[in-house]
Parts: sequence; structure tokens; C-alpha cells
Amino acid sequence: MKQLQIASIPGDGIGKETVAAGRKVLDTACEVHGGVTFEYLDIDWSCEYYKQHGQMMPDNGLDILRPCDAIYLGAVGFPGVPDHVSLWGLLLPIRRTFRQYVNLRPVKLMAGVQTPLANRYPGDIDFLVVRENNEGEYSNMGGRLYQGTNEEVVVQNTVFTRAGVERVVRYAFELAIKNGRKKVSSATKSNGINYTMPFWDEIFAEISSEYPEIENNQYHIDALCARFVTHPDEFDVVVASNLFGDILTDLGPAIAGSIGIAPSANINPTRAYPSMFEPVHGSAPDIAGKGIANPMGQIWCGAMMFDHLGYQDCGDLVMRALADTLAAGTTTADIGGHANTMEVTEAVCRRIKKLA
Ligand code: ATP
Ligand code: MG
Repeated sequence: MKQLQIASIPGDGIGKETVAAGRKVLDTACEVHGGVTFEYLDIDWSCEYYKQHGQMMPDNGLDILRPCDAIYLGAVGFPGVPDHVSLWGLLLPIRRTFRQYVNLRPVKLMAGVQTPLANRYPGDIDFLVVRENNEGEYSNMGGRLYQGTNEEVVVQNTVFTRAGVERVVRYAFELAIKNGRKKVSSATKSNGINYTMPFWDEIFAEISSEYPEIENNQYHIDALCARFVTHPDEFDVVVASNLFGDILTDLGPAIAGSIGIAPSANINPTRAYPSMFEPVHGSAPDIAGKGIANPMGQIWCGAMMFDHLGYQDCGDLVMRALADTLAAGTTTADIGGHANTMEVTEAVCRRIKKLA
């Protein structure tokens, strides 16, 4: 029996409820699989922790996480604590120190979920967005000059490295092959941003020539956003820089119907360091503590974690159970259902046992 250590960080708000739900599902999948168990390292880093300690995690926080096999995160954020505190104090150090250079977000319209797009049906929207997660526009380089004068100048630098762009583009092509996808699309804005974006295009062209069996195309980000809405069925794998990927990975779940279901994985493909799995939604303080949060995004993250750790059979099982539960209408109020968090969770667990 293989035992894997998972750092469990519920964080704030509904994160506490969704992580508890997700763990129940993960444990059920391990139980029926019989070959693997998860041992959780319970970690209380959050905005609450920040209010008590003045930092999001202790000084040796990253050392605590490093030996873990993966990180299962709920959400961090709380009214009164600015977003940049949780971002720069917890999420970015983890993503960057552990070289989680891929942010992977599946966009899939599931049966039982309503999309705001007319004439779209399940199966029609089904693609994977690969966002560069370590460099690019979110560089913290730049500054303000002549502050307080009418001549004030503000500069923010974008940093692309050849190695950084190559590895994420290559990941997108490898992902396409692994998942039987036919096409990789790239998003830039080379007509307006004329150093970094043409550099990305150049590397995309180089790497794509190594994969002649995979179709490739390049879009300007503005045109691509429009295309997501008008022709979402055209996409298989989409790769983009940190900023453009950020935009696309919010637009994606929006067209697929619900933020409560959308998963995200911060991946270090080499597995030299732990990867981190967190739903797209935030801490949703308006519904926190009520037991009504949709746990499906968190559960889907768990399926991605299984895949990453080499237990694809468990991942598939969780996804089948999730899809069946959704299709049967056992869902929370955010997507029109009447069940609460625990009812949905238990329905997914029952389904796992039935399918196994
Ligand atoms: P944060 O500051 O942590 O990002 P937020 O207030 O922006 O939190 P989000 O989680 O990003 O909240 O989502 C916005 C709204 O969508 C929430 O206020 C909530 O009403 C709804 N929502 C988000 N996630 C869920 C979920 N899992 N289940 C049900 N409703 C959700
Ligand atoms: Mg938010």
C-alpha cells in the first residue's frame, strides 16, 4: 500500500467546507482503489492566520510543504485583508519556489449545468487552458518616477525567458498528445506588444514544428476572447502567458457555466517539488459557514491531483462519479440545485462505490 503525504490547506471562507468535502471524496476513491492512501498534513495558513501572526505562513512554511507529495488548497482571501497579501504572501511563493510553471484549467460544459451561451450543449465545450504561471507580466519589476508631479511615469516590465516560454509551450503540446487532442492554440498580442509577444510567437512556432501531428494556430488575445464565446467548440488546448492565461481562465469557467465547479492545478511537471491543486473560486465570504458551497470544483481538483500523482484510474473514477451526480441533478443552489455541500459530497462518494 502506497502512502502519499498531502498538505491540506483549507484557507478561508468556504475553503474550509470544500476541502473537508474534497477529502471525503479522495479518501473514498483511495478506499475502493485499495493501493494508495493519503496522509494529510493539516495546515491552518489563511487570512485568519495572517491577522494573528502578521504573515500568511511561518518563515519555514515552504520547508514544511517541500517534502509533501502534493498540496490541496481551498481558498485564501477575507474581507479586510487585501488580495495582494494572500497572493504575494502565500500563493505566489508556493507557485514560484516549487516551479509550478503550469496552471492547468479544464473548461468543460457538463451535463446538468447551464451555460450562458445559447445553442451549446455538453461535449461541445471541452478544452484545456495552459497558463504560464511563473513569469511574464506578473514580474514585480518596474516602478514609479516623478511621483506627485504632473510628469509622473509608471513602468511595469514583462519578463519572458526562453526556457520559461519553451517549457510551458512544450507542456501544452505534450498534454495534447497525452489527451488525444488535435490542436494547440496560442494567445498573444504581437501587433501591439512588440518585443515579448513576438518572442513568444517565435518559440511557439519552433516548438510546434516538433509536433507536426498536432494542428496549431495563433490568435491575438482580443480575437481569442471573442472566439471563446462565439466558437468554443473549436478549441482543444490553449496556451497563454501569465496575464492572458489569467483572463482566459476566468472566461473559460464563465462560458462553461459555473465558477463553483471549475478546477485548477498549479503543476510542476517534473514532480521535483509538490504541485498545488485549488479550485478557481475564492473564499466566497457571502456564503461561508452555511454549508451550501458547491464542493465540485474542489472535488474536480482532487481528480487532477490523482492524475498528477500517477493514479489516473482514481482520477477517472472521481470524474465519472462527479459527472453522474451532476447529471442526476444532485447539485447546490449556485447551479440551480437544492442539495447542500454534504449531500452533494455523499452522493459523489456513493457513486464512486457503485462504479468501482
Ligand atoms: P476571494 O476574495 O477569496 O476571491 P470572492 O468573494 O471573490 O472571494 P469568489 O469565490 O471568487 O468570491 O466567487 C464570487 C461569488 O460566487 C461568491 O461570492 C459566491 O456567491 C459565488 N461562489 C463562488 N464559489 C462558489 C461555490 N463553490 N459554491 C457556491 N457559490 C460560489
Ligand atoms: Mg475573487
